[in-house]
Amino acid sequence: MNKHNNQPNKDSANEISSHPNAIYLKNLHRIQSEIKELCLLNGRKENACKLLPVTKTISTNIIEYLCKNKEFLFGENKIQELKMKYETLKPEGALWQFIGHLQTNKVKDCIRFSEMIHSVDRIQLGQALDKELQRQGRSMEILVQVNTSGETSKFGVQPEEALELVNKLRMFETLKIKGLMTLAIFSEDVGKVRSCFRKLKEISEQILCEAPNHVEMKELSMGMSSDYKIAIEEGSTIVRVGQSIFGPRSTPNSYYWHEG
Ligand SMILES: *Cc1c(COP(=O)(O)O)cnc(C)c1O
Repeated sequence: MNKHNNQPNKDSANEISSHPNAIYLKNLHRIQSEIKELCLLNGRKENACKLLPVTKTISTNIIEYLCKNKEFLFGENKIQELKMKYETLKPEGALWQFIGHLQTNKVKDCIRFSEMIHSVDRIQLGQALDKELQRQGRSMEILVQVNTSGETSKFGVQPEEALELVNKLRMFETLKIKGLMTLAIFSEDVGKVRSCFRKLKEISEQILCEAPNHVEMKELSMGMSSDYKIAIEEGSTIVRVGQSIFGPRSTPNSYYWHEG
């Protein structure tokens, strides 16, 4: 992992606006333009990849500032935290996509507070979501999370089981499958990181070919602070970035990704 990418950019003093939260807006805008440049450099359309700012551990006052500056969409990893932020920031117009491991007993809250779920990785979860969505007369955009790193500590369906899971999830009319999501291996070895992203793209192409009826696979949610540039080169359409915007987090990654 490239540690330098986790540091928010402290630019020359004369450019820093007086508001203490302006630095985060500036970082966010900087990364948005970088994403556009990278897309063009890689022969993709300028807007082919979107930034999802990840706000876990980030205070509501910072998020409120971003909303006031027309940034409304955020990613959260824990339902408890999402709930607290929803209650405080919904009036500001904030919207959330859920990117964390979802337990079936938290499905109801997740549906209430989010407009897309990146992390559907098992049929039981699909079932629980469908049941609650039917009750509420709603539908939900979802991504299927695939474990491309081979690490047991990461959530996600195994690559060779992804097609079967997508085919089962498609039976639920309330679930609008939009594509796939992954977390790459944490490694200094760029080649290993890149092969996780390649694998996700291959799986999505395979699903497009082999799924019996039409299935949408237009989103690839892959890339975070340490590796989003590689992910964009490999076709990412959504990068989920926290630390490069907001600075290093004190909570370890294991708090978010390891089972148990
Ligand atoms: C926290 C998180 C990210 C963003 O990680 P950063 O290192 O802060 O960029 C991306 N994806 C998921 C699932 C996360 O939980």
